[in-house]
Amino acid sequence: MVIQNLFLQGFRNYENFQCDFSSGVNLIVGQNAQGKTNLLEAICYLSRGAAFRTRKEAELIYFGADFAELSAVVRSYGREQTLRAVLFASRRPRQLFLSGVKKSSREDMDGVLHTVLFCPEDLMVLKKGAAERRKLLDDALCQLRPKYARALEEYKRLLAQKSAALRDRIDHPKMLELLPDYNERMAQTGAILITTRAKYLRHLAELAAAHHAAFSGGSERLRLNYQTVSTVTEPTAPALEVYAQLKEHQQSHYRAEVESMQCLSGPHKDDFEAALNDLPMKAFASQGQTRTAAISLKLAERDLFETDTGELPVLLLDDVLSELDPGRQDFVLNRIRNGQVFITCCEQDKVTDIGKTIHIQQGRLV
Ligand code: ATP
Ligand code: MG
Repeated sequence: MVIQNLFLQGFRNYENFQCDFSSGVNLIVGQNAQGKTNLLEAICYLSRGAAFRTRKEAELIYFGADFAELSAVVRSYGREQTLRAVLFASRRPRQLFLSGVKKSSREDMDGVLHTVLFCPEDLMVLKKGAAERRKLLDDALCQLRPKYARALEEYKRLLAQKSAALRDRIDHPKMLELLPDYNERMAQTGAILITTRAKYLRHLAELAAAHHAAFSGGSERLRLNYQTVSTVTEPTAPALEVYAQLKEHQQSHYRAEVESMQCLSGPHKDDFEAALNDLPMKAFASQGQTRTAAISLKLAERDLFETDTGELPVLLLDDVLSELDPGRQDFVLNRIRNGQVFITCCEQDKVTDIGKTIHIQQGRLV
């Protein structure tokens, strides 16, 4: 997938902007607060129908303007198509167009432009709690596997219902009669979640490790270890086997769940451990190492998306160069040789020999 050009009018701090891009690396250079991240946000909006720093559309419109317009020509699956969005400051709903044809929903634009974004918040994936890491797996899998997305939605609904039944058991003891039914369906959907996550993570880990090794000049070995319900011996086994092991766990935790009034059994606590040269990253990784691993994960996610869909997503890297030593900076700038990449950075002297440098000042191209 390649974004050939971008046109912005009244988007964030861009009154009027137009630029052609390289199909390789696009280095977006400028001082702080000039609009570098805003540019990535515009691309993200066209790709996903939502910006990544805000949910409020009004914030995306140039202060005082009535509307914002974004459009880009994208080449994917052998076709050239134009994505266009118009956002209104008044209460009118936004309008989306695909090659000039108005579309009623964002889903109609799906598959034209896919982006993988790295933003500084993604560093938290490796440093913070399990929820962030589950989200990384869930977000990728929900896009790639509709069956997974349905299973996850159902699992979350069942979890909420079962948790409510356990929580209210003193006032409404009859609710406990529903537990066997919830458990049965949670074991069925849970087995789909576990087997899909485990297989995806196995591939992701392999690819991320290769990227991380190249990135670090061969000195660091990244490993990712899936952690799920303790009775599951082989998470990549057929779902039926995992289902039986989930039932076993539910049975042995039945009393504990009723006593603690909490749902203790199931893949909603899943996690994966990341280790560098066998040391857990959470406790031992340096800032540069964490950044290296987080970017390697994104590169791997992009590879897997390509394997599944046949097209390499556009890579958006916001503020990745800081904290990296010259060797690792060179990797980002010059050695990600497949597909289109956008990289924002503040330093003027950074160079890439496989693309284009775009200088931004106060929402303008200079
Ligand atoms: P940094 O190097 O610090 O990350 P940046 O170049 O990435 O900076 P952006 O976040 O892209 O900066 O742009 C921030 C600027 O855009 C801010 O000064 C902000 O006030 C301005 N801005 C954001 N939204 C709007 C808007 N709706 N209208 C006008 N200006 C806006
Ligand atoms: Mg920025």
